[in-house]
Formats: sequence, structure tokens, C-alpha cells
Amino acid sequence: MQDTHLLDPFGRRITYLRLSVTDRCDFRCTYCMSEDMVFAPRAQILSLEELYTVADAFIGLGVRRIRITGGEPLVRKGLTSLLTRLGARDELDDLAITSNGSQLEHMAHELREAGVTRLNISLDSLQRERFAAFTRRDRLDQVLSGIDAARVAGFRRIKLNTVVQKGRNDDEVQDLVAFAVDRGLDISFIEEMPLGSISSHERKVTLCTSEEVRERVEQRFQLVPSSHRTGGPSRYWQVVGSDTQVGFISPHSRNFCGDCNRVRVTAEGKLVLCLGHEGALDLKALIRRHPGDAERLRAALIEALRLKPERHHFDASEQVQVIRFMSMTGG
Ligand code: SAM
Ligand code: SF4
Repeated sequence: MQDTHLLDPFGRRITYLRLSVTDRCDFRCTYCMSEDMVFAPRAQILSLEELYTVADAFIGLGVRRIRITGGEPLVRKGLTSLLTRLGARDELDDLAITSNGSQLEHMAHELREAGVTRLNISLDSLQRERFAAFTRRDRLDQVLSGIDAARVAGFRRIKLNTVVQKGRNDDEVQDLVAFAVDRGLDISFIEEMPLGSISSHERKVTLCTSEEVRERVEQRFQLVPSSHRTGGPSRYWQVVGSDTQVGFISPHSRNFCGDCNRVRVTAEGKLVLCLGHEGALDLKALIRRHPGDAERLRAALIEALRLKPERHHFDASEQVQVIRFMSMTGG
């Protein structure tokens, strides 16, 4: 009988795909990219048809949630046509996007119409100068307008993502939670990971643990542990008296690998089994060598899952542990 599931050697079932549609971006966040980032030549990036082929193979193998990411996914030309095809797949429980928000003011409605159910929007600061220092772009107003547009478009849920750095935005976490509460949004605070070589700051100096962030948030808000799960690595707390869930993504301080249910495919078609490991399988080479051979692709995915590592080991004392930047892998 044909396998219809993706199971790794540790008994974890893969039901969640993060699909990167571009490595390009209109921002240059200091923790994510170097200032002079070199992007992949267009011919190396999966076409929209190839992206759909990959997604279709995963759906056939039991993936029920897809998150479209990048780079900045909304700068990929023709993205809506891919989303419309995926949005029409009844097997999917969830079609989500992670975005920096810069294009949402004019795209939010179109994304919702295409069938996108959830949005994650990155927001590291509510202060204009700080925002510009984080992203190397003076576009806070544009992102805030994008968030407003997303709220009216009627997504199932909108979550903000904030990378917290000591001495840079850790004093803003309460304001960010207040911003989320006022607008009925969720928010996750992320510990920075040592992905890619950067020169703007020393990661071990600016690392702010989820524990420290939570203590700060609790100085102003009452949090109670929540059973809310999104199939992701966040652990959630409910802000008492509101709809808002506050999540903590703690790759350093809390290892969440035990219940990992996901894999990633980069814009260049590399299947990445774990964010914290370099190993990857070249799906693009396979698809281009054997166009239309769905069975071969399916067999390759099943086989690749045998290599999924048990866990990652990030070490705060090292600046770089994985050479790939987050923008290349797809966050
Ligand atoms: N451009 C979109 C955005 O910014 O939301 C999607 C891609 S971005 C790579 C996805 C998420 O990864 C963002 O929330 C970003 O803050 C986070 N990220 C990027 N580099 C990171 C790093 N080194 N450690 C932790 N999170 C990182
Ligand atoms: Fe672009 Fe997102 Fe990376 Fe920032 S975090 S540089 S917005 S891909």
C-alpha cells in the first residue's frame, strides 16, 4: 500500500509546510540579512507552477497547514494566483502568510479573497527611529497602515511577531502587548537565532530570553497559561480580560523539537528538515529533471523524512551556527 503520511524516524508526523516563495525583500532587518545581501538569480527560484507542484505533493502526503513565507512573500509577482490555487484545496485546514506588512495596505483584501486564513506580521518596534534601525527602512507608517488594512479584511487571526533584543527593544514589550490588545491581535516574542553571518550586532550580547520578556510583560498584564496551539513552536499565555494570546518562541531557552511537525522548502527548492541544521534535499533538481513525475517526488519526500534530525542545538555563545540566513530558508 502507498504511504500517505510523512513520518520521521522519531515518530513525528509532518503536517505543516513552510513554503518560501522568494528570498528577496524590501527590508533589510539586521538580524535577518546583511546590508549587501546577494539574492539568488531568478532562474534558481522555483516558478509558481513548481511551487504548486511541491505544495501539492505535500498535501497528498498529509500536510494540512501551509505557511507562505520568504524573504518577503508579498513582493513575489503572481503570488495571488498561487494562493488562489492553494486556497481552493479542501484538504488544507489553514493557509497562512508571514509578512513584514509593507504591502498589506493594498494587498490584504486580495489575500483574504484568495483564501488566506491567517496572517503573521513582523513588528519589532512602534517607534519610528527604532523601527528604521531594525529594518534599515523608514517604513513604520506603511506597516501600521498595513496592519489596519489586514484587520478590516477579516482574517481568522492576525499575529504580530517581534524579535526581542536587549537594549534595543526589550523596553517596548509592554507597549507592543498593549498595541495587540487594543486591536484584538495576538503577539509572539522571538529569541533571535544564530542564522547567517551579520555585522550589525553581537547576538550573544543582545539575546533576550523569553523568560525575561515574560517577566516584563507580567509587570503590566496578567497572563494565564493557555492551551491555544497553532501547530507551531510558540507557547501561549492569555492576557486576562482580552482576546489576545501572547506567545514565546524560545529556540535557545526552551527546546521545542519534541513535537516538531514541520519542514521547510526554500525559494530555491531545497527541502530543509530542521532550521538548525545545514542538510537539505534539492527538490528543484528533481522536479526539473523529471517534470510531471509526481510519484518520484512523493517517494523522494518520504525518503528524505528519514533524515530529519531529532533536534537543533543553538548556542548563544556562537555568532553563526547555520550559514543560511533566515530570509533564505523562509522564516
Ligand atoms: N519577511 C517576512 C517577515 O519579516 O515577516 C517573512 C520572512 S521572515 C524571515 C520571518 C520571521 O523570521 C520574521 O518574523 C523575522 O522577524 C524572523 N527572523 C528573521 N531572522 C531571524 C533570526 N535570526 N532569529 C529569529 N527570528 C528571525
Ligand atoms: Fe525581510 Fe522578513 Fe528578513 Fe526582515 S525578517 S529582512 S522583512 S525577510
